[in-house]
Amino acid sequence: MEVKKIVVIGAGQMGSGIAQVCAQSGYDVLLQDINQDAVDQGINSIHALLTRAVEKGRITDVEKDGTLSRLNTSTDLGDVHEADLVIEAVIENLDVKKELFQQLDNIVPAHTILATNTSSLPITEIAAVTNRPEKVIGMHFMNPVPIMKLVEIIRALQTDDETYEKIEHVTKELNKTSVTVNDFPGFVANRILMPMINEAIYTVYEGIATVEDVDTVMKLGMNHPMGPLTLADFIGLDTCLYIMEVLYEGFGDSKYRPCPLLRQYVQAGWYGKKSGRGFYTYA
Ligand code: NAD
Repeated sequence: MEVKKIVVIGAGQMGSGIAQVCAQSGYDVLLQDINQDAVDQGINSIHALLTRAVEKGRITDVEKDGTLSRLNTSTDLGDVHEADLVIEAVIENLDVKKELFQQLDNIVPAHTILATNTSSLPITEIAAVTNRPEKVIGMHFMNPVPIMKLVEIIRALQTDDETYEKIEHVTKELNKTSVTVNDFPGFVANRILMPMINEAIYTVYEGIATVEDVDTVMKLGMNHPMGPLTLADFIGLDTCLYIMEVLYEGFGDSKYRPCPLLRQYVQAGWYGKKSGRGFYTYA
């Protein structure tokens, strides 16, 4: 069955971006979150991004209105029962995701594919809690979703070819480029990126350089478009810590130990841009 209706669970920075690109590509989208404020914030940010795109001449008013008309919201998981594809983008916590996939498995029709946008967690383990493990797959979008071209597609051990081919097709329809990778901690993107960010935090923690200087070295010296500490703030320091813990536990290798400073910032609620303070402060 062709994918027509997409449900996105979690209206945070990733979920709202995924919902936007799906609606812009012509899919009917339901954006669901347990928190009404998150839904409101997600929709407001989609409105703002589409308005800016119209102002810059990248889309027309008609396209903006069409996108918004294909977007619905809910805080009730019971409303997701008509999906052909669910893309989950809730917090990076294995227990929360496993419980959600069990619930979804009981709500959505038998043909529905369940995808997760996890940055690092084992898709194989998430698939195993459902009665449709062959229809579970990873779709790892990059942040900010409307801008970044890449989607890492991660096949769980159980994912069948039909599911994989449908997801590859949807990814193309979203005008993204996919790279297919195997299900190991951090996949490719975060296995390489997160240890670099963690090392940048260690550099500050050990008093070797300031936050600004670490970022300047990587921008001007390595031609990175933004420094690793700015990027960490954008990703969310809670998400960064969770991913480092997944790598540390998953590989059992001390080279992945999260920096104590990262842990302390998360304990303080300094999650980065989304909470107003991380390595930098945000208005
Ligand atoms: P976020 O904190 O901005 O948003 C998470 C949202 O999930 C919140 O709005 C929260 O209310 C909602 N939520 C929590 N439990 C829920 C539940 N049971 N049902 C419905 N909604 C629920 O987080 P984010 O940065 O958008 O990350 C979401 C996922 O995307 C994570 O798995 C993360 O690892 C992954 N990811 C993040 C990035 C990034 O740069 N931030 C990049 C790629 C992938």
